[in-house]
Amino acid sequence: MRCDICGSYETYIKEYKHDYTIKGKKIEFVSDRRFCKKCNNLVYDSKLDNEASKKAIDLYNKEYGITKESIVSLREKYNLSQELFSKIIGCAKKTLVSYENGNSIPNDNYLIIIKSLINKPDTMITLIESNKDKFTKTEYDKIKNKIDFNALTFEANEFIPSKYNGYTKLDMSKVYNMILCFADSKVLKTKLLKEMFYADFLYYKNTGASITGLEYAKINYGPVPENYEKIINECSKNKLIDYKIEFKNEYESHYIKRKEKIDTNVFTKEEYDTICKVKHFFENYNSNDIVKYSHSEKAFINTDFYKKISYDYAFDLKI
Ligand SMILES: [Zn+2]
Repeated sequence: MRCDICGSYETYIKEYKHDYTIKGKKIEFVSDRRFCKKCNNLVYDSKLDNEASKKAIDLYNKEYGITKESIVSLREKYNLSQELFSKIIGCAKKTLVSYENGNSIPNDNYLIIIKSLINKPDTMITLIESNKDKFTKTEYDKIKNKIDFNALTFEANEFIPSKYNGYTKLDMSKVYNMILCFADSKVLKTKLLKEMFYADFLYYKNTGASITGLEYAKINYGPVPENYEKIINECSKNKLIDYKIEFKNEYESHYIKRKEKIDTNVFTKEEYDTICKVKHFFENYNSNDIVKYSHSEKAFINTDFYKKISYDYAFDLKI
């Protein structure tokens, strides 16, 4: 390498203290640079210079912006390609690639969007729906397939611990896997919804917390999770379960059977044991039996129709 100032080819590498100002912020660090032996000026060395500027960007992003790792993990959370994700946040794919490789600092617009997506996941819905015309039909369908809007809405709802959620934050992966556990073999929806109630309330009785964070309400058929229709439909749409309605003598029977493998890792051992205990307890109960059984619970008797059921009643549970 040749010194631009004096033309000498004799150079050496030494640690150099960098003192950058990026977007008005001071960034200081030490890294190797190349110098001229004769005149001691900095000599251009693409590899070392690149490393130094990457280091500066990395430090700035860590301190004031957003790290490349957070951007990648945000995109991977939704299983999106760089192509689709860049379209969603509104930048060129090249720009996103450069952010993800740590070659540049996200500009303020993208920074705000990316940070909102991390802190308020339902921003994703707003972004997609308000820019719908930017996507082709195929792209839009792909996005809708990958992103679970319902789960995002649930996730976004601010968590306020209360006696109605068992002082536990809603965890959709636990909800889904609990459903898979109870639908291990074909089960009537009515029975499954009751079993969920028993699992959450029994766990609360033993620990003072619910498993899923679901709220339950009283309807004719007993206690059911709030938004249960939405939850079951979501499971069916995402191919976690088979959901079939069968007709017999003018009666509808709603059957559920799991399609996806159960991921027991989302539960603690105690949570999983509680689910198994409930499942075992009601093994030989048909839908009517469990409805009847749940109607004799204080949780049911002392709650008004269509009102939420307090987890306080867990202590009076009959199982
Ligand atoms: Zn020189």
